[in-house]
Amino acid sequence: MARNGVSFITGAQLLSLRRRPNIAVIDVRDEERSYDGHIPGSLHFASDSFSDKISDLIQTVKQKDTLVFHCALSQVRGPTCARRLASYLEEVKEDVGIKDILVLERGFNGWESSGRPVCRCTDIPCKAHNL
Ligand SMILES: [Zn+2]
Repeated sequence: MARNGVSFITGAQLLSLRRRPNIAVIDVRDEERSYDGHIPGSLHFASDSFSDKISDLIQTVKQKDTLVFHCALSQVRGPTCARRLASYLEEVKEDVGIKDILVLERGFNGWESSGRPVCRCTDIPCKAHNL
């Protein structure tokens, strides 16, 4: 489903895909990540410094072809960062192996309120495996 140029994935769909090794979940919340917990195994690239870290992000997700962005509600920051990455990749015209850039519908808050797994570690990066 595409809205404003980004495609969304539901929590149920993400949950069914998460065991696949080619997916990276990218949390772009800012300080909330440290006190609200996070999706197990997700990477953190805060929206306020996202543009400066795009090349780090691309390095970090080298083995992945599907990226799922989210923020708290996935209404503003998540889709904005997803679009920013997509337009960056279009500009550099370099094949970095990323095929799909998706946004998690309802964000972390929706994920958590549906009773899906939440990790509360303080490791950077989170070392939890996908579920
Ligand atoms: Zn964790």
